[in-house]
Amino acid sequence: MNVLQRRPLLIGNWKMNGSAELGAEMAAVLGEAMPELSAVDIVVSPPATLISVLIEGLRQTPVAVGAQNCHPEPAGAFTGEISAPLLKSAGCSYVIVGHSERRSLFAEDDALVADKCAAALTSGLVPVVCVGETLTQRKKGETESVIRQQIDAIIERLERPDLERIVVAYEPVWAIGTGVSASAEQAQPVHGLLRSRLADVCDSSGIRILYGGSMKPGNAAELLVMPDIDGGLIGGAALAAESFLGICRAAAELC
Ligand code: PEP
Repeated sequence: MNVLQRRPLLIGNWKMNGSAELGAEMAAVLGEAMPELSAVDIVVSPPATLISVLIEGLRQTPVAVGAQNCHPEPAGAFTGEISAPLLKSAGCSYVIVGHSERRSLFAEDDALVADKCAAALTSGLVPVVCVGETLTQRKKGETESVIRQQIDAIIERLERPDLERIVVAYEPVWAIGTGVSASAEQAQPVHGLLRSRLADVCDSSGIRILYGGSMKPGNAAELLVMPDIDGGLIGGAALAAESFLGICRAAAELC
């Protein structure tokens, strides 16, 4: 159909879920479907202990593996943490930074998210920078200012060529894990705002801006068809091989 402006990117975020069995099933199902998915980029982000299982299982496929977090320092006395160079050497290609769960449950602020983003780029990982407003902020009409503040922290921290290498994920907090997705009409203006803010400082035409928040096979196409929605960051629906595949297929059918 070829209605998309950029090559779509679908990232499954397993959060603190999954198993080696799910990893094997995901690798088998995605591997088998690969010929029909050649027009899309797919990433699976399991918990850190399953990264090597997924790397091994997906070795024969173009599906990449991502991490869900990294520490901003490359090495040191940070018990329990994992640095971007360690993730890179484990075989990861992407790392999610600033997920709303990390911002709200682990007190990550914009400056720390920007430092993690810079660390990822330095190590050759693609950072997937999450931004998004809470329901209260949306109801108070603060969506635009919240998004601007979050993306500006990244813009201020990175040099222009590095900015063009990031992936952004707009994830309205009220849509994450609730079963209630933002509508395409709610999401597109925020994606447009992100792209135009990035365009003030770099060439944002190639930057992929993903939507995240209760994306499923049944609502993926209506979101992905919007001009500034270039893929999805998928939580719950990425925990079953068939539903993740359904979203990847919906994207491939638009290419
Ligand atoms: C997420 O965790 O990034 C996410 C979008 O979750 P869900 O798809 O379950 O809403």
